[in-house]
Amino acid sequence: MLFLFGTGSTVTASEPLPNLTCQYCQTTGNLVVHVVARYVQVFFIPVLPLGKAATTVCGHCRQTLRPGEQPAAYLAPVAAVAARAKTPFWHYALLAVFGAGLAFAMLSAVVGRIRNGPAPDPAVPVVGQRFKMKLDEGELGPYALAEIERVTADTVYYRTTGLLRGPLTPATATVALRDSIAPVTGHARYPVAMWHFLTTGEGRFRLYK
Ligand SMILES: [Zn+2]
Repeated sequence: MLFLFGTGSTVTASEPLPNLTCQYCQTTGNLVVHVVARYVQVFFIPVLPLGKAATTVCGHCRQTLRPGEQPAAYLAPVAAVAARAKTPFWHYALLAVFGAGLAFAMLSAVVGRIRNGPAPDPAVPVVGQRFKMKLDEGELGPYALAEIERVTADTVYYRTTGLLRGPLTPATATVALRDSIAPVTGHARYPVAMWHFLTTGEGRFRLYK
């Protein structure tokens, strides 16, 4: 997709500086300051204000001085005019749209959480929860799955698959948890505190479902 970037500008103030003497032609009362607000535009739509720049022009000798070129005597009166010059609201047009979109997304997330209840907490073992057990670093390495079968006050009972490889989807997980459970070693248990450590503290068991 082609993006058309550029910058644009708007003169937001033009005011005389009646008490100032031109540093070049030494006449007084001929200086004017123009404040320009610049912005980044995409497809000619302002998206981001770039700030203001004030340029002085002498009506007598035409000397034009950009920011950084103006003598010290100009700075305070120029700054006063620049401070009064308001950046047009439409320079913020797309920022405002993005801001509104972000606010809407955050609000939707909050509303969704209220509706759906909090996200499942892996530290609170629930029968049927599935966990992916990382056996080494990296996503491509072998892994195993665990599914909680029973929970008592102090113990979590779970079944666990043999080593699995390849993509993990809800369907492959269901098949593996049915077909890859060893009769004896495929069922194990942990004290609740240990389970908590593995699923949150150490993170070796990551909640998958
Ligand atoms: Zn002049």
